[in-house]
Amino acid sequence: MITIKTESQIEKMRKAGALLKSVLDALRAEIQPGVTTLHLDKLAERLIRSAGALPSFKGYNGFPFSICASVDDQVVHGFSNNKPLKQGQLLSVDCGVILNGWQSDSAFSVLVGGGSAEDQKLVDVTEECFWRGAAQARAGNHLGDISHAVQQHAESHGYGVIRDLCGHGIGQEMHEDPNVPNYGKPGRGVKLQAGMVLAIEPMISMGDWRVFLEDDDWTVVTRDGSKCSHYEHTVLITEGEPEILSFPGARIPEALR
Ligand code: MG
Ligand code: MG
Repeated sequence: MITIKTESQIEKMRKAGALLKSVLDALRAEIQPGVTTLHLDKLAERLIRSAGALPSFKGYNGFPFSICASVDDQVVHGFSNNKPLKQGQLLSVDCGVILNGWQSDSAFSVLVGGGSAEDQKLVDVTEECFWRGAAQARAGNHLGDISHAVQQHAESHGYGVIRDLCGHGIGQEMHEDPNVPNYGKPGRGVKLQAGMVLAIEPMISMGDWRVFLEDDDWTVVTRDGSKCSHYEHTVLITEGEPEILSFPGARIPEALR
């Protein structure tokens, strides 16, 4: 069932989103060679709990951390560890919070200490995929319009769109209906209505889109070993331009409006 949020519920989701943005900004500022993902995980948990919120990932189906920290060919759901990050690694950080019962979910990718132009392009195009998808997230459009926009942009650069994982509705639960695939056909699927909230999250591989699950039963890795980038925000559908709840004040790029 797809839930339509009321204005007072949306206001709570705005607060959760603003908190999550501040946490991810703090994590981003910490990332440099030598830092461990376990350090980032602990920092995230401390910041979230000190704001009176809960880290939604921790304990979710038994997941042991407050962030997913996925490096290079790891797509998503990577475990934090005490290995120092190395210059040029592609790190994706995904995090979720629950504030006063309402969820927010967001992820970004970055090259640790900077890296190759080739890897930076993957990170940049993945973010562009998000914005192109989000630009289609408006009342009257269909879910497939979002999916198609993401897929078309990624594939135009020769990248693979991960298919085994997708975005999702979000509200009082982290994963609500509908699924938001990163591939699809325009005009297909659920018709979008104002008050729906979707986590739109392109997961884009430099090579093939096929993945497998590591022995920890969580970490998703590309089969061909190619690097993968992830970018996500919690997005409110409106009659006009969507509101990016996990990025207060952000607007759809003018060329896409
Ligand atoms: Mg996420
Ligand atoms: Mg998500």
